[in-house]
Amino acid sequence: MNKENILRNLPSVNDLAVEIKNSSGDEYSFNLIVECSREVLNSIRQDVRKGKEFLTAEGFIAEKVKDLLKRKSLNSLRRVINATGIILHTNLGRALLGEKAQNAVRDILYGYSNLEVNLETGKRGSRYSHVEGLLTRITGAEGALVVNNNAAAVFLILQALARGKEVIVSRGQLVEIGGSFRVPEILAASGARLVEVGTTNKTRAADYERAITEETALLLKVHTSNYRILGFTEDVSIEELSSLGSKYGIPVVEDLGSGFLVSLKQFGITDEPTVQESVAGGADIVSFSGDKLLGGPQAGIIIGKEKYINIIKKNPLNRALRVDKMTIAALEATLREYIYEENVVDTNPTLRMLTISQEALKLKAEGLMEAMNSKLGSLTEISIIENYSEAGGGSLPTTRLSTWAVALKPYKGSANGLVEKLRMGVPAILARIEDDRILFDVRTIQESEFNIICSRLFEEISRE
Ligand SMILES: *Cc1c(COP(=O)(O)O)cnc(C)c1O
Repeated sequence: MNKENILRNLPSVNDLAVEIKNSSGDEYSFNLIVECSREVLNSIRQDVRKGKEFLTAEGFIAEKVKDLLKRKSLNSLRRVINATGIILHTNLGRALLGEKAQNAVRDILYGYSNLEVNLETGKRGSRYSHVEGLLTRITGAEGALVVNNNAAAVFLILQALARGKEVIVSRGQLVEIGGSFRVPEILAASGARLVEVGTTNKTRAADYERAITEETALLLKVHTSNYRILGFTEDVSIEELSSLGSKYGIPVVEDLGSGFLVSLKQFGITDEPTVQESVAGGADIVSFSGDKLLGGPQAGIIIGKEKYINIIKKNPLNRALRVDKMTIAALEATLREYIYEENVVDTNPTLRMLTISQEALKLKAEGLMEAMNSKLGSLTEISIIENYSEAGGGSLPTTRLSTWAVALKPYKGSANGLVEKLRMGVPAILARIEDDRILFDVRTIQESEFNIICSRLFEEISRE
């Protein structure tokens, strides 16, 4: 057939859409079908005009439209499978919510809630009341509030307590976290002036003391969450800094970042300070993330002495950084587990993934290998290997988490090509490549995802 004939024989957008609507039932809206039909027909027309070969096989156009419908009916933000072993992967949404937190969110989404009403008095209440008592009880602080994330928490603290004045920070703590959070920049944006003291590797209490002037509003200690300086180093403890602050009547703020609420020393995680240690050490205000090692929703938590918390609460910026009811619901349920569960390390997914034993990981890897072998045994080389996972989210930079992973190498095609296809399909699977093999680190894979991984692999490999 020549070009003109082919073009003339193409169905109209409407005819094609009606045909597909009739054969696909209620799965897709007619508007979406029309949009996809138009796109497919346009691209075919362009191809034909360019002289590309055109397959006239029966049903070929409808199949193309259905493929497009499948892709376009997905939400842009969707579930993926994390086989990277990075627990708090910021690009993959950081902490997973536990079952109780998921239920709490679902519950308040389907109905109205007492977000800001005190049901005892019938009067207006505070949305923070649902978590404030839990936070003070767990951490030992006098007061608490919650904002959108920890970057916002730090910004709000600085703006409320140090705008137009000086904040003293050690040069070893002028960190950048996750690209866009940089201590000097957030300080400048808040309207406070940075006064750097000490050196990259050593800062002493006397350095802070010498820098104190009439203009000093805060002494700020920043946890170097995502890196450590080793070797010839010295740093001022929160206890020492707090006694210096008391001596001069200057509040001490600690940005802890990670929000570690339980010590995991018994699991070999030793290089992370807990929030309780900071409060007990005398910090006047402490801030941390809700979705790092705390294992809850994205949030920035500020705790500390009542008089400072009250000033921060009244700052107009607090209203602009206000958290949503979903955050409060998830955070409340997550925090309750720290108090009421026998073992929060089992119920909180982040803590569970951090502390899961080598034996359990090996068993899990064997389970995944078996599932893969029975589906793909003849198509790939599959083994299990010891490897390392990461906490991620800029936490525990020096903690090596030994893990087990399934290593897979396709007989046909490359591991690189396959790992890309796994990422682009539905559901997307994200995995690492090492020595030309794809590694599936079972630390961050849920057992309910094993079969999906096998099916996706089979689908992609058999298409090769
Ligand atoms: C992660 C981190 C932040 C930023 O917290 P977000 O919740 O990601 O906004 C700030 N300070 C420190 C020390 C951190 O580790």
